[in-house]
Amino acid sequence: MTDTSTQRWRLKRPAVDATSASEIAQRHYGVLGAATELGSQQDRNFRITPDRGAGLLLKINHPTVTSDEVSFQAAITDHLRNARIHTPEILASTNGARSIDVTDADGQHTTARAFQLLDGQSLIDGHLVDGAVAEELGRLAGRTTSALASLEHPASERRIQWELRSSLSVVESLIEYLPAERRARCLAAARSASAEIDSLRDRLPLQVVHGDITADNVIRDNANTLWLVDMGDASQSWRVTEIAVLAADVLGRTESLALVSRAIRGFDCEASLTDDELRAIWPLVILRGAVLAVSGWSQLAIDPENTYARERLDHEWNVFEKSLASLSAEVYSQLRLAVGRSHHEGLEYSPVVEGQNRATILDLGVTSPLLDRGHWTEPDIELSLAREALRSAAVAVARYGETRLTRISLDVTRPAKTRARLVELWVRPGTPVRAPYSGAVRVEGDAIELTDSGVVIRIDGLVIIVDEFSRTTAGEVLGYTSAIAPGVGRLSISRRLVDAVADSVFAGPTDEYETDGAADPSVILGFDPVADPIAQLRAERTRRDKAIGGANERYYAEPPQFERGWGTLLIDTQGRAYLDMVNNVAAIGHSHPRLADRVHRQLHLLNTNSRFLYAAYADFTEKVLEVSPDPSLDTVIPVNSGSEAIDLAIRLAQVATGRKGIVAVREGYHGWTMAADSVSTSAFDNPDALVSRPDWVHLTDTPNPYRGRYRGAESGHSYAQDVRSLLERLDSEGQPPAAFICEPVLGNAGGVLPPDRYLAEVYEAVRARGGLTIADEVQVGYGRLGNAFWGSTLQGVVPDIIAVAKAAGNAFPVGLVLTRREIVDSLAREGMFFSSAGGAPASAVAGSAVLDVIREEGLQKNAEIVGRYLKSRIEGLASRHSLVGPVHGSGLYLGIELIRNHETLEPATAETRWICEHLLEFGIIMQATSERQNVLKVKPPMTLTHGEADVFVNALDRALCNVTSGT
Ligand code: PMP
Repeated sequence: MTDTSTQRWRLKRPAVDATSASEIAQRHYGVLGAATELGSQQDRNFRITPDRGAGLLLKINHPTVTSDEVSFQAAITDHLRNARIHTPEILASTNGARSIDVTDADGQHTTARAFQLLDGQSLIDGHLVDGAVAEELGRLAGRTTSALASLEHPASERRIQWELRSSLSVVESLIEYLPAERRARCLAAARSASAEIDSLRDRLPLQVVHGDITADNVIRDNANTLWLVDMGDASQSWRVTEIAVLAADVLGRTESLALVSRAIRGFDCEASLTDDELRAIWPLVILRGAVLAVSGWSQLAIDPENTYARERLDHEWNVFEKSLASLSAEVYSQLRLAVGRSHHEGLEYSPVVEGQNRATILDLGVTSPLLDRGHWTEPDIELSLAREALRSAAVAVARYGETRLTRISLDVTRPAKTRARLVELWVRPGTPVRAPYSGAVRVEGDAIELTDSGVVIRIDGLVIIVDEFSRTTAGEVLGYTSAIAPGVGRLSISRRLVDAVADSVFAGPTDEYETDGAADPSVILGFDPVADPIAQLRAERTRRDKAIGGANERYYAEPPQFERGWGTLLIDTQGRAYLDMVNNVAAIGHSHPRLADRVHRQLHLLNTNSRFLYAAYADFTEKVLEVSPDPSLDTVIPVNSGSEAIDLAIRLAQVATGRKGIVAVREGYHGWTMAADSVSTSAFDNPDALVSRPDWVHLTDTPNPYRGRYRGAESGHSYAQDVRSLLERLDSEGQPPAAFICEPVLGNAGGVLPPDRYLAEVYEAVRARGGLTIADEVQVGYGRLGNAFWGSTLQGVVPDIIAVAKAAGNAFPVGLVLTRREIVDSLAREGMFFSSAGGAPASAVAGSAVLDVIREEGLQKNAEIVGRYLKSRIEGLASRHSLVGPVHGSGLYLGIELIRNHETLEPATAETRWICEHLLEFGIIMQATSERQNVLKVKPPMTLTHGEADVFVNALDRALCNVTSGT
């Protein structure tokens, strides 16, 4: 170690404050903006944020940083960016330079650089919560290592204090700064770790490393991408130091060897570690802890105002303390298992039971086909499936990490423990059970624990024949499986880290999953664990955003990932069932076997362009005619969606009347295709809706008797009068409209019933002037209103054209237009109609199946009876919760309007949003609707039971109790 290098560690950060940082940014980069200082041990970092345009991160280097080093760091940045690792770009100054000279307040000369400013958060504390994040970090470190392997640079051989090859001398030279009582311990540990490394030194590969991949230096941007920042500690070193540094950081933050193991596993997936490197990790973690501890204190002695260094002292000491709590040799065994190797070099595990390596995998996960048709709800389903599997196999295995659908609680408010932290081997009773490796035996009831070099596995479910506290050799018989039912035995095999307290072998959806008390025994048994559902959930969120982009509407800020439905339940991949109170698309319930079977069968037979002749088309259209509200509506055209149905309805009206204009009501939503969007004015869906209407769309007020321009039950005439005046004006301007379009029950407002006689009067007025009437029944039709199949029937009118979708296919793409023959015939004047997949065989079969189920299961009647009960229970809440306003709607299309003030009707928008998110915690799916987003839209599958209605109302009651404190 040279004098200059020692001296360098003892220098203060450059004397640059926010004001001068801001001046530098303006002078050299032309960016004018306020500067905010970000922490750094030895440099100065400032975020410069201008009022407009992109900001930058200004880094004023420590005065000893040489131009060679700056060029080295630039080379790393470029190298990583070329390898598609995200790291901020170095910005050129106005003179085109990547580094500029500056003089600090003390007259010291130094250099500065500017970097692209990121919009995101570093992964510090709150974010590093689980194994999935730890693994992501490990992967990033691994990818960085792989990318940097090919980088050579003359300045890479740097003597910096963080470079772990010289860690012992750093600790020795700075030990005096450490509080006296810690010195001996620190020094002894560093020396012993260094001695361990010495025996491996020559076999550890060298390369350029970033040297400081920690949660502080990794930023997650808003698109969920991880960015690596700060090349200041890069140098030539052992490549394993890259992961040792990260391992130390994860350990210090989480105190969990399980999470450290995940980080190392992530690294190994991207940059395979040699056995020597794996062995070196723990001593290097100890050395990193020691260097952090001494340098933190020394930095504070030199630069007492460095609050960043001060705040980190505890974290740094924690890394060190935690690293000493485990023996290197034992950690090495754990890490070998974490990366999928046996816990000793060269060790091969003996099978615990004969036939283990040919075991049938028993898929008990959320998407398991074994559990379709609601089989997962049957009692003892695991046992029946295992028994079935044992007919053809000696062993059936249920895997570690699986979210078991079989264990999901049907009581949505009380999630069960569903995630397996064990491997289960199903075998016949009396099967010999053997030790997978040699070790010390401990017996506890009918369980046996086997320990070797810090690796502990526990096997439950056998009659034990070996002695307690004995030693066993690999392959020795420990006992025989006992019977849990006639002909079936079950071994539960779990693992924990030595000295850790064993956790429950099943974890709940919100439990910390990865703990030292429940480690994965899969490697020992030779099985692959299932993929981590938390990592999958995060990846899924990103994947969807990436594929679709920002304009895609999605429920929930942090949505659960649903991969199965059953009746009124939606089941997520974390092991929880939710009561779906919002899904009018799934009218007959999720995964209805009748629908699934018929569509499946049809897909085997034929699915093709709807212009061919096949029976399913007429079967479906005839069935629709059976539910037609009036004999005059005698013609059906199947399409693919609500939007397409509305577009077609508008087109039909225009062709049939030879007119263009459409009268639509304000605050309505009719779809996203051009014509449907033109008549949609809901400001929630399109904030500019009112000012961007095409000139053929004419608007009238929404007939909302509760909060509209006219109020009360008698207001229908006044609203209708407005429409009359509009029609009169349009006539006088020579542009009488083709049609009037409206939802017969105002679905978008949350099921508000228009006032009596409104539709009747409007329809009469429109027809009197030669126009047609279109009812958008996409949301409210098809039986859900209970006492009528159609919203128009409920309102006592017969429209000329009805548009239907959503329920019609139970989320299969089925829509339709129901109208009069002569209206459809008029379309022939403009050419023929076809929609390639609209009414294609599988869609038509889906449409028929839905209508059959609605009729045969009496779902309209159910909607009426359960809906009436539900409405009365919700209304009952109003006496205790002043937020609850009117409950709109009918049957199972209800809207609970939440208001802050019963006089002014001030909408409780924030409270409604809060309640929706909060209900998710209680296992209820609920969303807001209406222009003001203050109405809870209650439109569950029409199969809802009284019991489920109670679950919802009770949960809502609880949410309402908490709402004031929550918003
Ligand atoms: N009309 C109404 C009343 C709707 O609510 C919707 C969809 N929410 C549509 C039409 C459009 O249906 P789709 O999303 O199937 O195109």
